[in-house]
Amino acid sequence: MKLRDIAIGANASMYYRLNFKKIRGVYYPRTETDVLAAIAFARDNGYDVTPKGGGSGLSGACTGGDTDRIMMSSLQMTEMLAISKDIGYVDVQPGLTPDEINAVLEPMGMKLFVAPSSRDIATVGGILSTDGGGNDTWVNGTMRDNTIKVRMVTYDGRKLTVSHEGVKSDDPDLEAELTKKGMTIHDVASSHGTLGFITELKLVIRPVVGETLVGSLAEFPDYDTLGQAVDGMIKRESPIRYGETIVMAHPDVREGFNPPLLILQYPEEYESELKEFVDIKRLDTDEFERLKDIRIKLPKRNPMEGVQFALFEGYGFHEESLRNMQHTLDEIDTLLKSHDLVPFGKYGHAPSKWYLGDNTAAYGIIMHSREIRPEGKTGTELLQTVLDIVEKCDSLGVTPKPEHKWPFDDEAKSSRLNELREVIGPGFNSFILDEACDDVLSSMV
Ligand SMILES: Cc1cc2nc3c(=O)[nH]c(=O)nc-3n(C[C@H](O)[C@H](O)[C@H](O)COP(=O)(O)OP(=O)(O)OC[C@H]3O[C@@H](n4cnc5c(N)ncnc54)[C@H](O)[C@@H]3O)c2cc1C
Repeated sequence: MKLRDIAIGANASMYYRLNFKKIRGVYYPRTETDVLAAIAFARDNGYDVTPKGGGSGLSGACTGGDTDRIMMSSLQMTEMLAISKDIGYVDVQPGLTPDEINAVLEPMGMKLFVAPSSRDIATVGGILSTDGGGNDTWVNGTMRDNTIKVRMVTYDGRKLTVSHEGVKSDDPDLEAELTKKGMTIHDVASSHGTLGFITELKLVIRPVVGETLVGSLAEFPDYDTLGQAVDGMIKRESPIRYGETIVMAHPDVREGFNPPLLILQYPEEYESELKEFVDIKRLDTDEFERLKDIRIKLPKRNPMEGVQFALFEGYGFHEESLRNMQHTLDEIDTLLKSHDLVPFGKYGHAPSKWYLGDNTAAYGIIMHSREIRPEGKTGTELLQTVLDIVEKCDSLGVTPKPEHKWPFDDEAKSSRLNELREVIGPGFNSFILDEACDDVLSSMV
């Protein structure tokens, strides 16, 4: 295995400019004791620690930027430590994926209900650190909602147990200081490995309930009408088990469907109520699966011309911006065109739940966008486009999912992480909170 294979991640492989010579050690611990030894080596030599799970994080936070660092992978920490079907939890090491956990749980009639599309490669430690979830977050919440507590090791080798109620530590002074700061699991969620290394998680598991689900398609004349339909589902707490939007798609990949549209799955008995406010058309199983497949393949297809390019992940339309999507999307498209980009596809999870940088829950549409990249644009120019879109979204009341906005650029999240790092100490993934992160990000696009 080459060093490059260890340092880069799935999508973070876009980080062309990583300085591999600055990786001073690569560790695959199996136990907390191994983790402590690796951190001690980093601390003694003044190196940063970069935790890494499956390497599927979209902001490339598991690469460590260009800092002198050790890489610490959780991929050998894959033990299931305890399962309680009665109380509804599982204790696991951080390197297991949801698919691996569910392969053990499902024969028992239980399940961990956290399902990012990357659930076969993303680890539970990484998913909590990015607060991931799938197209069922609307019903089942994100990773933080499904985590009871985590055990972590800090840069100076102290141990923390963080839950929704607060924090405990083997060091009473540290516990008192962090309690004063009000640290909870919300701070670990989406912290991108900046606080410490997660060595164990206690996760919520629930029985798998059998229900008859049916699938439908709803087409809309414009974005506003689609946004209003999603808003209606959120207000009514509709039992949507799976919901996807395709807001726009390049004509080369449409295959006869007509965006903007929603693909929905829900219990059969809910259909008549849903029909009262959304004009849905029932799909047979094959057609429903075909549409899901088109949506899943959409980001992977190249248009006939140009280079398709993942410009931006996770616009978050909620409340007012959800009900008035037309204006917002028109403005974003105008901005894209002024940067010579051609819109290729916009699609996403809806209705969806995510958390804003200040940890308040938001409900709406998490939308991803692919564009056609013009020849000759530099990474720096494209990064500027991304940052301009972030600014535009802020001014329009659209709040991108924190993973995709990067913590350093999210004032509420970054100031909270800095506040906690003043107590816990720096040393973990420092590059993320550094403005120089721009240089690394510009190599990403
Ligand atoms: C094809 C594809 C589909 C995707 N679909 C979705 C989706 O549907 N929903 C979604 O939310 N995301 C999705 N993602 C994004 C990605 O899967 C998530 O960000 C995932 O949660 C990251 O997990 P990971 O184990 O790969 O972490 P990594 O990428 O290895 O790391 C992510 C962050 O977590 C930190 N970290 C990892 N392990 C630890 C640890 N033990 N202790 C402390 N910090 C740690 C790293 O330092 C880094 O900051 C997708 C990605 C891909 C490539």
